[in-house]
Amino acid sequence: TDAHLKAMEAARVLNAYVLETPDQARVMAQAADAKLAKGEGGWLGGVPLGIKDLFATKGVRTTACSKILGNFVPPYESTVTAQLWRDGAVMLGKLNNDEFAMGSANETSFFGPVVNPWRREGSDVNLVPGGSSGGSASAVAAGLCLGATATDTGGSIRQPAAFAGIVGMKPTYGRCSRWGTVAFASSLDQAGPIARTVRDTAILMRSMAGYDPKDSTSVDRAVPDYEAAIGKSVKGMKIGIPKEYRIDGMPAEIEKLWSEGAAQLKAAGAELVDVSLPHTKYALPAYYIVAPAEASSNLARYDGVRYGLRVPGRSISDMYENTRAEGFGAEVRRRVMIGTYVLSAGYYDAYYLRAQKVRTLIKRDFEECFAGGIHAILTPATPSAAFGIGEKGGADPIEMYLNDIFTVTVNMAGLPGIAVPAGKDVQGLPLGLQLIGRPFDEETLFSLGETIE
Ligand code: GLN
Repeated sequence: TDAHLKAMEAARVLNAYVLETPDQARVMAQAADAKLAKGEGGWLGGVPLGIKDLFATKGVRTTACSKILGNFVPPYESTVTAQLWRDGAVMLGKLNNDEFAMGSANETSFFGPVVNPWRREGSDVNLVPGGSSGGSASAVAAGLCLGATATDTGGSIRQPAAFAGIVGMKPTYGRCSRWGTVAFASSLDQAGPIARTVRDTAILMRSMAGYDPKDSTSVDRAVPDYEAAIGKSVKGMKIGIPKEYRIDGMPAEIEKLWSEGAAQLKAAGAELVDVSLPHTKYALPAYYIVAPAEASSNLARYDGVRYGLRVPGRSISDMYENTRAEGFGAEVRRRVMIGTYVLSAGYYDAYYLRAQKVRTLIKRDFEECFAGGIHAILTPATPSAAFGIGEKGGADPIEMYLNDIFTVTVNMAGLPGIAVPAGKDVQGLPLGLQLIGRPFDEETLFSLGETIE
């Protein structure tokens, strides 16, 4: 814990933490030590972690990196973090993220952008760590925590993990409780771990997962010992290679990474099978209807009355308007407007309902694939390596949305997905591959992921 607190201080230029909690960390570490001395420490006894600022932490400021939450201090703890503390982990602080987890570059945070510790060879240009869990990825990659919590609505665990050369697991929808996690799009949101190795990710996941009666979409299934999946043979497993992920204009280095990853799995005894997921091309447009629709509804609670910021006005509706206009950043306002529009009378059928139907088709594509005997699907994690801060999405938000092309399908179908580092681009930046699994079969993804890593 002390070593990490020192490293955090020395690396503040990365802007990975929005709040450091050194006093709390030392108290937690001492308590963990005392327990360990008595032979009682949990399996995370004394392990220092960073917590994405989307997780409510009792008595510790939680803002989702939005001005509208101001100095909100929750009187409760999220289930996921409570389970980590139960098993002995130590909190180092709260990590930066895109405002309300909306973004792919950690550039929409009220606290400013996060810097990726990686740089292009021979360049001093600061790169994004990806988003929305950019603080988690940057902190783990730079050694500012041993692991971090993150959330993934359309790729926010996997894409930053890939951009920072580390591992991120987005569990099956329902595997981790959403209780006490700031809601973005409730039917897509899922918490999961980011860490430096597949094994570390599996160890964290065991604590984070589990049924929670406080979340009606949490699933009552025993939590396996994910670490036991590490080192398990992948011989005879069928790995689907979906042709729809070979998108137009895909860089040669991503193609190469993908075929090398496939070759590695083959060398380990897995069988490669060409598969088709025909509705893939509709996933991104459908996601950018469903996610803003749910966001517009979830964010209605920030009204200047219940939480954080209040900007007065002449009437109560003026107060609502002023608070929301000042409290939400540009990307959040855009999503609220899109979401309200697609849910409004007259447009609901044309946009929202249709997007939900497309979502079902995407899910069925995967179901058919798995019913045909496929154990997991291998794809690239991102269409490129990390890009420069301010380089993308300025005038055209769609340029940024395109980053999620390989990851959003997984959330639409509620499936588990892992991103593992698999190579470097020509400029020496890390690139990741993604493995998509059957529902509640994270173990297979850990086994396969470790084979590639
Ligand atoms: N980049 C996607 C978005 O902006 C996904 C974000 C996320 O997974 N939280 O919606």
